[in-house]
Amino acid sequence: MRINRCMLAMAATLAFMGVACGEDAVDYRLPAGIYPTSQVIELRLDPAADDYSGNTTIKLTIDERTDRIGIYLLGLDMTRISLSGNGAVRTLEATADDWDIQWLADGQPLEAGDYELSIEFEGLYSTDSLGMHRVSFEDHDYVFTQFETVYARRAFPVFDEPGFKIPFQLTINAPAGLTVIANTPVANSTVQDDWQRVEFMQTKPLPSYLIAYSVGPLDRAEIKGMSIPGFIYTPKGRADELGFVLRETPTIVKALEEYFGFDYPYKKLDFLAVPEFAFGAMENPGLITFRTDLLMLGDEASGRTAVRAVTVVAHEVAHIWYGDMVTMAWWNDLWLNEAFATWMSMLILEQAYPQYETNLRLPQAGAFGVDQRTSSKAIRRIVRNEAEIFDGMGLNYTKGHAILNMLEAYVGPEVFRKSIQAYIKKYAWSNATETDLWNVIGTTSDLDVAAIASDFLNQPGFASLQLEDDGTVVQKRYLTYGREAADLQWTIPLNIKYKKDGEVRRTFYLLNDKSGTIDIPAGTDWIFPDADGNGYFRWNIDSQKLYNLIDDADELTDREKIALLSNSGALLAAGDLTLADYLFVLNRMLDDPHPLVFLPALERLKGIGDNFVSASNRELFARFVDQALTERFASVGIDPRETDTEATVQMRPRLMRVLGQYGTDPSVREAAADLATQYLNAPASVSSDLGREALRITALSGDAELYAVYKQAYLDAQSESLKSNILAAIYFDDPAIVRSHLDFSISDAVAAGDVTTGIRFFAAILNDHAILYDWLNQNLDAFKDKIPSFVRPMLPQLFQSSCDAHDLALLHGFFDDRGDLYAPALAKANETIENCIARRARESEALDRFLAQYSD
Ligand SMILES: [Zn+2]
Repeated sequence: MRINRCMLAMAATLAFMGVACGEDAVDYRLPAGIYPTSQVIELRLDPAADDYSGNTTIKLTIDERTDRIGIYLLGLDMTRISLSGNGAVRTLEATADDWDIQWLADGQPLEAGDYELSIEFEGLYSTDSLGMHRVSFEDHDYVFTQFETVYARRAFPVFDEPGFKIPFQLTINAPAGLTVIANTPVANSTVQDDWQRVEFMQTKPLPSYLIAYSVGPLDRAEIKGMSIPGFIYTPKGRADELGFVLRETPTIVKALEEYFGFDYPYKKLDFLAVPEFAFGAMENPGLITFRTDLLMLGDEASGRTAVRAVTVVAHEVAHIWYGDMVTMAWWNDLWLNEAFATWMSMLILEQAYPQYETNLRLPQAGAFGVDQRTSSKAIRRIVRNEAEIFDGMGLNYTKGHAILNMLEAYVGPEVFRKSIQAYIKKYAWSNATETDLWNVIGTTSDLDVAAIASDFLNQPGFASLQLEDDGTVVQKRYLTYGREAADLQWTIPLNIKYKKDGEVRRTFYLLNDKSGTIDIPAGTDWIFPDADGNGYFRWNIDSQKLYNLIDDADELTDREKIALLSNSGALLAAGDLTLADYLFVLNRMLDDPHPLVFLPALERLKGIGDNFVSASNRELFARFVDQALTERFASVGIDPRETDTEATVQMRPRLMRVLGQYGTDPSVREAAADLATQYLNAPASVSSDLGREALRITALSGDAELYAVYKQAYLDAQSESLKSNILAAIYFDDPAIVRSHLDFSISDAVAAGDVTTGIRFFAAILNDHAILYDWLNQNLDAFKDKIPSFVRPMLPQLFQSSCDAHDLALLHGFFDDRGDLYAPALAKANETIENCIARRARESEALDRFLAQYSD
């Protein structure tokens, strides 16, 4: 009896099939009943050429008689297609269809059986940093790959769905003398007539989006002290800039191995610094790729730059277990990959780098602002193509991470860990869905985790809870002021702290209805329903209790204080808190001694400056800023000190920035200008974080001469983080500079993945976006050609940093008639700007009343 896909999927440990059984067939995926079992790929790659060629042989099984085989391919030519099996060799023709599918057929039926499909193909390297792309860097040519999400099909014909998880064997022919690397170690290598032929070992079962390889004059340095061999590869001549990451990686890998309970499961762990990259990093097993500015940091890194680097390394290596060994069955569960890796990386950082205090970074704080929009979509929904996979991608990380935090707190960390270990073991080398995860956690914990998870994942948005003195709690969907949307309901675990008779106590309540009653005594001083700060909801108590809580804020942990501030901002946006009350909370957190409790308050202060301050109240706001920040800045200074804690190191650059941008004291700006000059001339002598903020402050009042200095420094830079920081600091508002820099951003000097920073940063500082749309109108084709394809549908969101009706009209004027491609991002940008405008109008008088206390 032949085992078909559905029967295999029913076998518990063989859930590797892409299509759920019983589900209706859909046209955007390959049909069930034809599936690959292994694939061999041979490529001939010369990085100095524009084109390449290759051939591939795919072993596949056909379950039932059919008349065609579907395969994915985009932008390549298939020059010969043959199918052998059932005692015959046949030549097939290809017909292109939607969804990048090619149908292969010869007009005769294909009987059930095992076949070998062989295809010869040729095409051009891509140039937008996705697929197999060619990069020129410092006068040398390289080939790199980025196949997630749907880009393997741009490099070779392939069953390009994550459910087709099979072994691949890769062979690369390349000019002799170049380095050739891939996911697996080299099995055999020969040289003939100036060309080398490098055969790699067969991979473990992989989805096609995890294949990676590279060709070029790469250099490398060894990562010592891991359970498996590993190197970090860089472009030619740059391998001496890896000290920090070489030193920290073994610590991270070891911590992950300990959490999962078994060693890193592939044969090697190489990293590769890719000078043109659309993402931060990519978790290809055996060959993880990174942006250069994440790996090439030199021997020392500090502050946010250091935290970011170790976070990304931990995130990518965590994917090795979740994502690579166990893979989502389809893109609608991509969140599971990303949420898991993000959650895991924070757990590892808390253990391995307690000095960074990453527990004070709340993932929900980054998610709420996005998820509160009525145009927000559920994390789990139908996704069919590239644009739909990327629509709302950020929530996969932030909201997904927050939900895992909430569930971990619900079942307890030890039970959660046991569940994860069991889950990885059960689904190793195959695919899984979210239900599989909840079932394992449910079995281990004996709690109905699925009910909670399902509400949060299958619905957009989140709840707003109203708590009364008698313990009554009522939920409704959180909406910003004046917005309307269908009400929704969630099952919410509540960890409650309250104070009664001078004593702080805790209790737990599972809200699984529209309303409920928490078992607390009446007459509490205050109630705080987000103990430990893991709740994915907003909450409200009567204002007297809120005042009591703020006065008593020392009874909260640092993380809880940050959650409280975030919640107060949401209440303000919903119209449930007055601006005066909000500023009362903000001021309390600005006074907090902990730099990392102060930091989110500082960012909110900056937000007021960015969005709500105008010429008429700028001076008074500046005095408010002075009063809130000057003393702290004087106590930490601008220069790093021996006695600095990591928290101070993370906080100082932003403190300098906000005081320099919005305060009255010119000496802060002068000191920043000196620091910026020093950073441009000797990047290693200034921390990357301080250097970036110094460049920004200085650019804000800079002229064409200064812009020329920045640009030349970018072109000459030998430091990858300096280059990134310059692009992130072009805060010049002179129209001639804006136009000149936008032209520069689409030149060869700027990598495809960095092109949009120009418009995005200008949109944040310019009062009138007209110049940006004018430029885009004139350069739209060149701009769209250069940026990575997945960024195109998101263009409207580049302009969403605005609080201005004129800019909103310009946004619609530009995008309204440009088709459905932009509709989802346009709706989001529209709602963000509208909300900001409405809040500004609503609160401007109250802000003026508050600022009046700073007049002479
Ligand atoms: Zn990831």
